[in-house]
Amino acid sequence: MLTQEQIQRMTQAVAEIRQRMAEAARCAGRDPSEIRLCAACKTRTVEEVRASAALDIDLFGENHVQELVEKTDAGAYCGKEGHFIGHLQTNKVNKVVGRAALIQSVDSLRLLDKIEAAAARLDLTQEILIEVNIGEEAAKSGVDVDGLWALLDQAAARPHLRLRGLMAIPPATATPDQTRAFFARMRELLTQAGERHYDNARMDILSMGMSGDYEAAIEEGATIVRIGTAIYGARDYSKH
Ligand SMILES: *Cc1c(COP(=O)(O)O)cnc(C)c1O
Repeated sequence: MLTQEQIQRMTQAVAEIRQRMAEAARCAGRDPSEIRLCAACKTRTVEEVRASAALDIDLFGENHVQELVEKTDAGAYCGKEGHFIGHLQTNKVNKVVGRAALIQSVDSLRLLDKIEAAAARLDLTQEILIEVNIGEEAAKSGVDVDGLWALLDQAAARPHLRLRGLMAIPPATATPDQTRAFFARMRELLTQAGERHYDNARMDILSMGMSGDYEAAIEEGATIVRIGTAIYGARDYSKH
């Protein structure tokens, strides 16, 4: 059980985030309703997530397949969407397809093919984003910009996938100015991707921005921001 104090703290946090999101949107001449708040809830319990679902959060993002399964089975999102935002291993694709409304972190042809096969078996259309390794970091998930176009072409050609846009996590070591430049570059890439005019795609989602940089992300064009710490507090990995 969460204490009244914990719930109150989370309620205030979400209200403040919403206010700052709206200000950033207006600052950029955008309609605040264009931007969705994704609660990045890795390591949070079913109870915490359920309590947060009553707040002004649009959807939930999970990094670990086991947590997605546990929280969807428990109904923790209270009817809101659950997205997959973490590194997805190909051997766990079957548990995610059809369960995640959007898989945000597709970054290889191998993964694309596994998702297509699983979606075909279930006779459904799986919405996806392609994750871009925008900082070209060696040990990071995401496709490099050089490989992006070929992967987009492949994704758009799969009958059981619907490509909706791009996702990125800029390098943790980047300065605020560098981070903003990465966000701006992502916006350009989304525009270029849209100009490829795929029949089977709608390039309208740009998922970027976390607790420390979501306002800059919104000013540069994000349509989903993924926020964990600023909603739930610091993560405690010792319990896992
Ligand atoms: C954890 C995580 C976030 C949220 O990070 P915070 O700094 O806690 O807001 C966003 N996106 C992804 C992919 C994450 O893994």
